[in-house]
Amino acid sequence: MMYNEYINLFWLERDIMNEIYFDNAATTQVCDEAVQAAIQAMTATYGNPSSLHRMGLDAENTVNRARKILAGALGCQPGELTFTSGATESNNLAVFGAVKAYRRSGNKIVTTSVEHPSVAGPVAELEQQGFEVVRISPDATGHFQAQDFEDAVDENTLLVTLMHVNNETGMKLPIEQIAQRVKRKNPGVILHVDAVQSFCKISFKLSKTPVDLMSVSGHKIYAPKGIGALFVRKGVRVLPQVFGGGQERGLRSGTESVPLIAAFGASVDKFSTNISKNRLLYVRLNEHLRELLSEIPDVTVNSPEDGVEYILNFSVAGIRSEIMLHFLESRGIYVSSGSACSKGARSGVLGAMGLPAERIDTAIRVSFGYTNTDRQVRQFVQVLQEGINTLVKQK
Ligand code: PMP
Repeated sequence: MMYNEYINLFWLERDIMNEIYFDNAATTQVCDEAVQAAIQAMTATYGNPSSLHRMGLDAENTVNRARKILAGALGCQPGELTFTSGATESNNLAVFGAVKAYRRSGNKIVTTSVEHPSVAGPVAELEQQGFEVVRISPDATGHFQAQDFEDAVDENTLLVTLMHVNNETGMKLPIEQIAQRVKRKNPGVILHVDAVQSFCKISFKLSKTPVDLMSVSGHKIYAPKGIGALFVRKGVRVLPQVFGGGQERGLRSGTESVPLIAAFGASVDKFSTNISKNRLLYVRLNEHLRELLSEIPDVTVNSPEDGVEYILNFSVAGIRSEIMLHFLESRGIYVSSGSACSKGARSGVLGAMGLPAERIDTAIRVSFGYTNTDRQVRQFVQVLQEGINTLVKQK
């Protein structure tokens, strides 16, 4: 079978028009603007940005246009952005690269107990190598206190690394307050924020907050998978983890993926200018979903009231997440059990919030995208109720 025939099978097997995709925190459908930008870069400006001829220059201009768009959205200078293969690479580069550059300024890393594995993994690796690691947990109400970060930071702290929005529950961390406080306590500390779940969804400007490093990813905001960026504030040092041709000012060698970068630029252009409009949609969908779920006695919401509107995590008493997930899937509805990245592993985030194992093992995450509708929310809750009736009976 030719590869194209294999790909076409996906379209034939599924009734795509009637599917409900509520897993946008895991990944998103690429928007038309990003598709067009990628096609243009693959078929017209397909030169190597390092080539000295005009084809090279056109490709370089394509990359720089996207860089400028991202810089505008983030409130930074284009030269402060490095394109990577995604946020996993951005997070690794930020944590290992900053620690390597500032090794002499201390031995302590402050982070949280709810980080994505692409931050938690590098930090655990550094702990193995002898760094002291302090992991801050949310309080009993599921919130992080800026004071806890201030207390944990001392003159021996070289790095603070934390996320902006938690991918499993939608919990927001008060990064503005945390940034002010940790910088006041130790101005030399390097502050890294994993902004994957907030970029282009929450208004935030790097010009207003003293964050040194920030990771973002394309595929959470309707660009393809495999493209991300790392913001490195001017004057802050990060040592490269990949050596080669010296692209991206030596910080990330390797021929730039012009099509993916162009697509990322197009999606950021579209979604960074639509934050308030999309937020209104998510507020409505979230309120609607919470209201309908409150009528089902078996359901308990795990997301905090003041979390982001586009992620809602809840537990269905007595039905394991995977069982419900597959029931919903059989009706053409796609959600996550906790975090898609953990593939069935028990959620550390819900555990860190102090939830009992039963609640964790029955957790479902719904995450909205800009094409979701009220009708889909109603249909989802109907099918969920159907699942509760049939699956509980099966026990
Ligand atoms: N951080 C967070 C908070 C995430 O949700 C994800 C994606 N699940 C990542 C980092 C990793 O991003 P990428 O898939 O681009 O490597």
